[in-house]
Amino acid sequence: MAKYFIATFILLALGIAVVYFTSGVPSVEKTDVSFLASATGPHFFQDPSRSLKNIVIFGFYFVPKNKLIHLNGDWRAQAESNLEKLKNFHALQFRGKSQVRYELYPDPVIGREENLFYDTEITQGGNPRALISVAEELEKRIFKPDGDLHTPNFKRPADEYPVSAIFYEGVGAAGGAIQDSQLNFPVEIAESLGIPESAIFILDVESVNGLLLVNREYLSGERGPNGDSIFAHEFYHTLGAPDGYAHESGIAGTSDLMGLGRMRPLAHTYLDKETLKSFGL
Ligand SMILES: [Zn+2]
Repeated sequence: MAKYFIATFILLALGIAVVYFTSGVPSVEKTDVSFLASATGPHFFQDPSRSLKNIVIFGFYFVPKNKLIHLNGDWRAQAESNLEKLKNFHALQFRGKSQVRYELYPDPVIGREENLFYDTEITQGGNPRALISVAEELEKRIFKPDGDLHTPNFKRPADEYPVSAIFYEGVGAAGGAIQDSQLNFPVEIAESLGIPESAIFILDVESVNGLLLVNREYLSGERGPNGDSIFAHEFYHTLGAPDGYAHESGIAGTSDLMGLGRMRPLAHTYLDKETLKSFGL
């Protein structure tokens, strides 16, 4: 049994549509069994066995060590305002049946590496490489009890659906959920999903069920008035929602946040009926 991660990428995404990450360590999902039977309310996209009644977002402002000069002094207010907006949007869309709370890591996390380590030359695909390498560094340094930046609030919760949100001082917009597979090897998972093996990445993250990364400038509005929607769009990927537009052409199939509606500010968009139905609403 292995874990794999599905990330879908937006905006500049024309090439890579889907990336799967795997990890050989399957233990963490077992803690979720306790609420399998009672999961009648909101649940993971098309999967009633995973409750979304309570969601926790662990937020991090992450700055590669060679980008310290770009560290934004207003990052906390920007992050909090976007997290609050998302919380309210979620409560409204899920009709109060699913609660989001967040824990914002108190200080900027200065990366151990320079941006070229985290990024790839192909950041157009949403920068999934940064998502993976930053998430693994956070796992080691913050979530593990022996990490140099560990604090007690940042650990896998017992009865909430945990997600990490990385506000990155660099390019990127990506999000996805970590999935379990009965298969052991990337090549087998790739085959069963009908995707190339090169799209499978090994990921060593056990503390959360979903990951997203967005350029910090989306939070401040520097990248347009729909930055809050881009953040929210990536968040719903961490709950399993797919894109509502075609990756190759960019043509939208839906008008909501997962499709064309991601181009509007969050106050002027919504999740459509079909999406909500798949979340058990
Ligand atoms: Zn997307």
